[in-house]
Amino acid sequence: MINWFPGHMHKARKEMAEVMPQVDVIIEVIDARIPFSSENPLVPSLRGNKPLIKLLNKADLADPQLTQIWIEKMEQVSGVKAIAVSQEKPEQIRALLPLCESLVPEKLRSIHPARAMILGIPNVGKSTIINTLAGRTIAKTGNEAGITKSQQKIKLDNNILLTDTPGFLWPKLTPPSCGFRLAITGALKETVFDYGEIAFFAADYLYQHYPDALKNRYQLDELPDVDLEIIEAIGQKRGCTGKGGRVDLQKSSSILINELRAGLLGKITWETPDMVETEIAKAKEDDLKKAQEKEEKDRERKLRTKKNRR
Ligand code: GDP
Repeated sequence: MINWFPGHMHKARKEMAEVMPQVDVIIEVIDARIPFSSENPLVPSLRGNKPLIKLLNKADLADPQLTQIWIEKMEQVSGVKAIAVSQEKPEQIRALLPLCESLVPEKLRSIHPARAMILGIPNVGKSTIINTLAGRTIAKTGNEAGITKSQQKIKLDNNILLTDTPGFLWPKLTPPSCGFRLAITGALKETVFDYGEIAFFAADYLYQHYPDALKNRYQLDELPDVDLEIIEAIGQKRGCTGKGGRVDLQKSSSILINELRAGLLGKITWETPDMVETEIAKAKEDDLKKAQEKEEKDRERKLRTKKNRR
C-alpha cells in the first residue's frame, strides 16, 4: 500500500497559517485529471474569505466534459474561480494576471502590489506556470516528483507579487482511492507504490468508464471483465511473456501506467464530483465502524479484567 508521513501535515498547517495574513489571493494549481485528489486539504479551512483561483492544469490530458463539470462544482463555493489551463496554451496561463488583479480590492492595490500565493502538489506543473507568468525561467521544472525548492517572491506584470510556497503540500490519502489516482497520474514518487497495484486499479476504472480507450490502444476486440485479465491481455499484445507463455504482470502494468501518464490512451479524468462524494461518505462510515469496534473491544477487555480480579 501507499505510505506517507503525517508529520509533514502539522508543519504545513503551521507554516501556511503564518503566511496567510500576508496573502491577498491564493492560486491553487491542481491536476485537471484528479481535481479532488490533487487539492490541498488545508486550503478550505485556512483561506477564510480570501479569493481562491483553482487552476486545473494539464487540461490537455483530462476529459473536457468532466473538466467543465468540476469547474461548475468548484465555483459554487463563494470566492472561488476555477479555470482550465495547459502548458500548450501559455496565453491561458497569462490570463491569470489580470484575473488576480481583478480579485484584489483596489484599496489594497493602491497600498501595495497584489500579493498572490501559488501552491500545488509536486509535479502538478507549478514551475511551468510560474515560468510562463514571469516570461522567463525562474522555477526549475522536471518530471521527478518531490523536488525541493526554496520559497521565493517573484514580481510579475499587473503589479502582482507572487510567493511560491514549496513546503506546504502533501498528497491527500483519504479516501484511499486518492492515493491510487495520485500514483496513476505521477504525483507520487515511484518508491511509495507498487506498479501492479495501481495498474489493477487503473484497469478496473478504465473498464468501467473508458472501455474504448483500452480497446483502441491495445487492439482488444473484447475486454475481459476482470482487472487481472485486462493486464494479462495488454501483456500478451505487447509480448511481455516469460517462461511457458506466462505474462509478466509487472512489465505489463508499467506499460499501462507509463502510457496513461503520457496521454497515449486519450483524455482521461479519474474522478467526478459524485464519485468523490460517495467515497467520502463511505470513508466516514468505515471510520465510524472502526471506532465503534474499538470501543466494543475496550469494553469487553475491561469486563474481563474485572471478572479476573474477583
Ligand atoms: P512542479 O513540480 O509542480 O513544479 O511541476 P513542473 O512544472 O516541473 O512540471 C512537471 C511535469 O509536468 C513536467 O514534465 C512538465 O512538462 C509537465 N507539465 C506541466 N504542465 C503541463 C501541462 O499543462 N500538460 C502536460 N501534458 N504536461 C505538463
